[in-house]
This record gives sequence, C-alpha cells and structure tokens, in this order.
Amino acid sequence: MIQNNALCDFKEIPNFSNFKIEDIRPAIQFLIEEAEKTTEQVASQKESNWNETVEPLTLAVDRLNRAWGQVGHLNSVVSSDDLRQIYNDLLPEVSEFYSRLSQNKKIYQSFENVYNAKIEGNLNIERIKLLENELRDYRLSGVDLDEAKQERYQELSKKLASLAASFSDNVLDATDHFVMHVADVDRLVGLPQAIISEAREKAASLGKDGWCFTLKAPCWIPFMESCVDRNLREEMYRAYVTRASDCGASQYDNSNNIVEILSARHEKAKLLGFDSFAHLSFATKMAVDPKRALELMTELSQKARSRAESEYEMLKDYAASHLGVSKLMPWDISFVAQKIKEERYTFKDEDLRQYFPLKRCINGLFELLNSLYGISVVEKKAKAWDASVKLYQVRDHADDLIGYFYMDLFARDGKRSGAWMDDAVGRWKTDRHTQLPVAYLVCNFPSATTDSSDAYLSHNEVETLFHECGHVMHHLMTQIDELGISGINGVEWDAVELPSQFMENFCWDWNIVKKISSDISGDGHMPEDLFKKMVEAKNFMSGIQTLRQVEFSVFDLLVHLGAPADSLEAVMKILEGLRKEISIIPVPEYNRFPHSFSHIFAGGYAAGYYSYKWAEVLSADAFGMSQESSMTLRDIGTKFLKEVISKGGLRPSLENFIGFRGREPKIDALLQHTGLSEQARSAT
Ligand SMILES: [Zn+2]
Repeated sequence: MIQNNALCDFKEIPNFSNFKIEDIRPAIQFLIEEAEKTTEQVASQKESNWNETVEPLTLAVDRLNRAWGQVGHLNSVVSSDDLRQIYNDLLPEVSEFYSRLSQNKKIYQSFENVYNAKIEGNLNIERIKLLENELRDYRLSGVDLDEAKQERYQELSKKLASLAASFSDNVLDATDHFVMHVADVDRLVGLPQAIISEAREKAASLGKDGWCFTLKAPCWIPFMESCVDRNLREEMYRAYVTRASDCGASQYDNSNNIVEILSARHEKAKLLGFDSFAHLSFATKMAVDPKRALELMTELSQKARSRAESEYEMLKDYAASHLGVSKLMPWDISFVAQKIKEERYTFKDEDLRQYFPLKRCINGLFELLNSLYGISVVEKKAKAWDASVKLYQVRDHADDLIGYFYMDLFARDGKRSGAWMDDAVGRWKTDRHTQLPVAYLVCNFPSATTDSSDAYLSHNEVETLFHECGHVMHHLMTQIDELGISGINGVEWDAVELPSQFMENFCWDWNIVKKISSDISGDGHMPEDLFKKMVEAKNFMSGIQTLRQVEFSVFDLLVHLGAPADSLEAVMKILEGLRKEISIIPVPEYNRFPHSFSHIFAGGYAAGYYSYKWAEVLSADAFGMSQESSMTLRDIGTKFLKEVISKGGLRPSLENFIGFRGREPKIDALLQHTGLSEQARSAT
C-alpha cells in the first residue's frame, strides 16, 4: 500500500481527515495495478477454490471500489475544478479496467470451476448465490462470446455511452436555450414574487428590459400552475414539450439518437441471445418478464381510469364556470388543478414547513428506528468533507456496533442536486476479518437562516429524509457475510426502492407525525386538523397522475420489446397507439415527450421505468400489513428485518416479500393508499 495516502487507508471508516486531492491519481493507479496483478495471478492458477480464487480478487476489486467510490462521492458533494478534472481524467482508465475484467474468460472459467465444485458441499448458500450472480453478470457482459462478437459488444457499449451523453446534452441545452421574454407587466398576474424577481434578473443578465422565463423546473412548474395569461402558458407548454425534438430548435434534435439507441440496444441483446432489449433488462429484475410488468400497468390503468375521468370532468367544469375557459387544453391542466386545490384545502405546501424543525424530525426518525429495530443511533465526532456533515454509529440492543452512516443534509455550492444514499463500505465477513458497512446519506435541504437556530423542512423533504434513511437501513442492517450480496448489493433493480418507500409511509402516520412535528411556538405537535387536510390533499389528481406514469412505463416497455422502431414516425406511432388506450387528456400533434425522456434514453431506467410504480405497489402492500393487523412497530420491524432488509441479494426479492407478507404482492394497498380503490372512493 502507498504510505500516508488517505485513499489507501482501508480502516473501518473512510479517511477524510487526511484526504488531499494529490492523493487521487497515485492511489487509483496503484489500486488498478494491484487489481490487474491479482487478476493475472488468479487467472494463471491451475486449481480454483474459494480462498485462493474468489477472495483475493474480491479484496483487490473492493479496494479499488472503495477508493474510487470515495472520489466519486467527493466529486458529487464538494466538487471543484481540480477534483472534477482528475475524476474525468481517470474515469476512462477505471472503466476500462472493469470492462476488461468483465470479459476475462479465464477468470470466468475459474469462477465457474469453483461454482461447479459446490456439489462437494464446500460452499454455503451465500457463496453459491454470489457465484451465480457473478457468472450471470459475466455472461451479460459478453464473456462467452467469440472474439469478433466481443469486439462488437464493446463497440456497441461505447456507442451507447456516447449516444446517451448526446441525448442528455441535447435535453440540457434545449432547456437552457429557450427563454420567453415578456415586456408587459400586466401579463405577470398570478405569478409568485420569487419567480418574477428571478425572471427580472434573467432578463437583465441578457441585457433586456422586462422579464425572461425559462423551462428549468423551479421556474416552469410554478409558472404553469399560476400564470393567469393563457397565451403565455401555451407558449411555455409548446416550448417544453418540443424540447430536443424535430419540432424545436433543430441543433438539439434527439430524433436520430432515439432511433440509434433503440437499434444498438436491440443488437446488444441479440448478441447475448435475448429476444429483445426488454428481455435482457429483465434478466436482473424482480418482475420476471416484460409481460408481467405490462399486465401490472394495464391493471393499474384500468383501476385509475374512472377516477381520472371524473377528475378531468371536474377540471373542465371548474374551468368553464370559474375561469371562462370553454375548451380545456393541456396548458390549462396544472393551472386549473392548482386553483381547485387552493380553494378546497386552504393551505399551500410551503405553509407546512414551519411545523417541521429539522432536529425534531431527526430525533423522531431515530426514535422510530429504535421502535422498529431496537437499534440506537449515536453521533460520533469525526472529520468529514464539510463542517455540517455528521457521522453516526448504529448499535444493536446489545450495544454491538452494526455500522456507520454519514449525514450530509444541506444544499451548498459544488454539491449535486437531489437526494441519495450511496454505499461507502459494504459488509463482508471472512475467516480473518469483519468489514462493517458504511453509508452516505445525502440531501439538499435549505439550511437554518441567520435568525433561527434550526432548519425547517417541508413535508416533502421530511419524506425524502425518511426515504433515504430506508436505503441506509437496507445497507447497514444486512446480516449477509458475502460482500457481493450484502446490503443493497445484488438486489434486483426494481426491488431496491421497497425499503426506502416503506419508510415514507410513516410520514403519513399521525402517531409518527406527532413526534416529528411541533406547533409554531416549537412545542407540542402540528394541529391535527391541518394534518387531516394534508392527507386529503395528498390524493388530489391521483387518477390523472397514475395514468401519466402508466403511459410512460408502457411506452418504455413497448419500444424495447420486439424489433426496434426504425424511424421517428415508427416511435411516435407506438406512442399514439398506447395513448389511445390509456390517456384521457388529448395532446397536440406536436407533443414530443420521448425526446426529453432522459430516464430511459440517457439513464438506467430503460425497460425499467415501471419500477417506480412496482416499488410503490410493494411498499404500500408491505406497509398495509401494519394497518390491517394488530402488530406493534417492533413486530413489523422484526419481521421486515428478518425477511427483507437483512437478506441483501441472497434471495429473490419476491421470496423476501412473500416471507414478509405471507403472499405475493397485490395492488389493492396502493389503490387504497392513493385513493383509487372502490372503498377509498366511497369514503371521500
Ligand atoms: Zn430511493
């Protein structure tokens, strides 16, 4: 190991106190070399067995993963020009190492030999499962293809990476490129002051008088909800739904990217022997096959339909009687919905912030974890990457240490937006040592203002905190000893959100809300009447929203099933066909939503967008158990821990679910939860 290099320090928690940017290059290059040496040495062995084949390679790769993971993490939370430069410089070297390893036939053969010797009884079930996953992943990376096909596979992978980057650059640039200039102050009626001020600044920065509005989320969403001038809404809508398309600025058109991505994905799947890219994608998913996912979506759309239709009627009636709009158009929907919502529930989401002081939320959350799992969460002083970041130890009821997590909650410059959990270290127990799990929990909440000692969260941010903490629990509370299937490792993509969404449900449980909220003076809890209104407002427009999610999911599945669409017209035809069956709100001919659908064309959700709904089905159904039976929090927690979150990737997630719930998942709880079931409808 390199002495005095923080990235080569593999003690219990990452060494942030001695970290220097100059450490990165030598550490990563050294760890790649070491891993290469181990790979060669393992590949040249005559005999393969667990201790001399799998373990040394796992160790070498884990060290690189840990160090590179730490660099990637810092690049996300305290990015600087220097750090980004080094990260981008090293990225190709690191990716090449992983892709060389994943197509190494000798290593694959050695792993297969270890696996085949399992009949002799020298492997436990964890090791068998780990090897099955490893062998599957080698095959999905093209290890058993002949040389020419391997080369083609690599070419396709590279091509897909650059097509995805080009797709997302186009969406970003097309979004940035558009500004709507308004000169007349009378046309700003209805807009929140913050949006107006920002539009003023934007105009000034462009050397213009008046106001300039953009398509970025913080402007676009409130604009569509509140701008009274219907023509302006139409102009914004048109610009938004034609971004990066043949109907927008031609230099950002994603039409060719879409067609080429679909074709390259299909070819890749065929090389590996799958019928279509959707089938390849489902090789690592819980929902078994694309047909099952399509069935679920069809069932959801049928259940949501009548509610969506009555919501649409309500919008039309209100628009005609209160706003003088005789024909409701897509650019009216958010505006009218917002008007009805304000009238009906008499509070705005932002009003709730004063009831959720951060310290109380965190204490309430830790208390809930204690009730569920009997664990205690205790702060441990340690230097991290920013003074506001805290490190926590998690201990079980016998006070034994389970693992650690860092909590980095506040937005600041140089930090990527959004919220996420990442694993810093995975649990791994060998004959010689036990490596404890460590996680990063990252959010982007507003920090305390100068005149208050605590930060305050919106209810949505409280849900985010609970959600990410669910991922942390999944990673830390694992009882699996093998690194590749412990914590979140090896868990099917569409099941990973179960533990996190499960936690979100508690933010809608009055017994918990009482503990995480306070009244305005800082004592007691939020008013119960207000909480009841929040619950009512939660499901407002859930029919229309469900149909929209179903439309996206079905589109994603259909374009990846069968032979790929070979032209933009063919892609749009698929969309038109499914819209006829699913949607109830007509869209204009120029609407090009696929052109900015980055989740599936530039992200990891290809033939997997349905996962969002699938995870909601699972988590609502799992949580539903606490409501229909008389189980205590501890009963629920103990069972959830035993059957789901302790298991890592050892068992298929469906088995975990059945172990917990006693049966396969049903969509009823989600319908109930979102106000779409018969029962829920008659109650409102
Ligand atoms: Zn999540």
